[in-house]
Amino acid sequence: MAPRSRRRKHKKPPSVAPVTVTPPTVVAPVPLTLSKPGPSIDALGFFSLDNNVPGLSQLILQKLNMKSYEEYKLVVDGGTPASGFGFQCPQEMFQRMEDTFRFCAHCKALPSGLSDSKVLRHCMRCRNVYYCGPECQRLDWPSHRKVCKELRLVAVDRLMEWLLVTGDFILPSGPWSWPVDVVQDWDTWFSMRGLQLDATLDAVLGSHAMTNLWASAGRPRPDPDVLQDSLKRLLTDALSRPLTLGLGLRALGIDIGKTGGNTLHVVGASHVETLLTHSGDYDELGYMFPGHLGFHVIMVGVDVATGFLQSTSTSPLEPGTVQLSGHRGLYHDFWEEQVETGHIAHPDMVVAFHPGFHASPVLMEAWLPTLLLLRDYEIPTLITVYSQQELAASLQILVDLDVYIISYGANPFRSLKPEQVYSNPNKQPVYCSACYIMFLGSSCHPDKMQLEEKMNDGV
Ligand SMILES: [Zn+2]
Ligand SMILES: [Zn+2]
Repeated sequence: MAPRSRRRKHKKPPSVAPVTVTPPTVVAPVPLTLSKPGPSIDALGFFSLDNNVPGLSQLILQKLNMKSYEEYKLVVDGGTPASGFGFQCPQEMFQRMEDTFRFCAHCKALPSGLSDSKVLRHCMRCRNVYYCGPECQRLDWPSHRKVCKELRLVAVDRLMEWLLVTGDFILPSGPWSWPVDVVQDWDTWFSMRGLQLDATLDAVLGSHAMTNLWASAGRPRPDPDVLQDSLKRLLTDALSRPLTLGLGLRALGIDIGKTGGNTLHVVGASHVETLLTHSGDYDELGYMFPGHLGFHVIMVGVDVATGFLQSTSTSPLEPGTVQLSGHRGLYHDFWEEQVETGHIAHPDMVVAFHPGFHASPVLMEAWLPTLLLLRDYEIPTLITVYSQQELAASLQILVDLDVYIISYGANPFRSLKPEQVYSNPNKQPVYCSACYIMFLGSSCHPDKMQLEEKMNDGV
């Protein structure tokens, strides 16, 4: 597609990438909370953990048998660490995972900083935060009481998540038995999956893997309903992204019957996001639209995982299939090299999960060329954020850029799994893709009235 005359010349991108800071992730057993694309560690970066809890980054490396962040990064990229990374048995792994959470939530003391008479003990209710003594626990309660209940779920989920990694919890999948306009949110999705889902969850609850998990976890096994709720939260966490893409396709009125299928770009895809994504993870998007002519989902970001690039397919798009592929680089470079040259189809929609450009001037500067490009090429775009506060801040920025906002609000397919702010556990937990913003082109566009009518008809 030829550049439009009113396209602005975008400035050379700054060296910083339009993605959040690379989190400390490893493929091998690690605290999964650290490997998740959450605001806790992605946005702040590994060493900024120390701002809240001095020495925490070192504690993590030590517990994972690693010498440096460089070594950590090496493992992330598929290399073999110099020191003896790895664990003798599941008990050791879970113990070490838990140890990375072991600091006093009130005075921030680490185990190494305690006098001999003191030990860190967890809050009996949530088993998620630790205190160096009754005095710290008492003083902390006014703020901890607001999050204790939610953190209790977090502590269960971070163990249960292991079943997804080992493949002992396989998400229920298959064609939707209900039409897409009936399945508006998680409640209706769970109703639709009904019996099949119950059977899946029962099988996982009764499995040896579940027994082994809790035998290794170093804490009592919770009641079945607690475990079942946790599995459901993990499920919403895994399926939130494909279903949010589907939400965008519907709300933005994208033509699913387009010859040759649809191309969707996921911009600013992080290392973790691609590291943990496998072919098949977006199949739910296909089931959402029976009879579709193919979806090609391309993850673009400077930190796209090497393994993901190698595993992705480049065969022609078949009707009824969802194809994933990755491209490592800045989005506007990708656009000039791949899209403008016609190597890759023009996107029908672009999505950015948690771009975070509201969070700092540096991130905003990094995202600006991409945002202007999406606006000026009038690409239907959806972004997600972690909270209502982030929603307000992001909307303000987009309005200032004269972006035409189609809609925004709470995401009916947000993740229901609470995310703890790792180094600051008494901060209100957040939820991935809690809210969304959809925009299309510029608010200065002359045909906006017609467009609005079309959107109202389409949704
Ligand atoms: Zn303390
Ligand atoms: Zn608690």
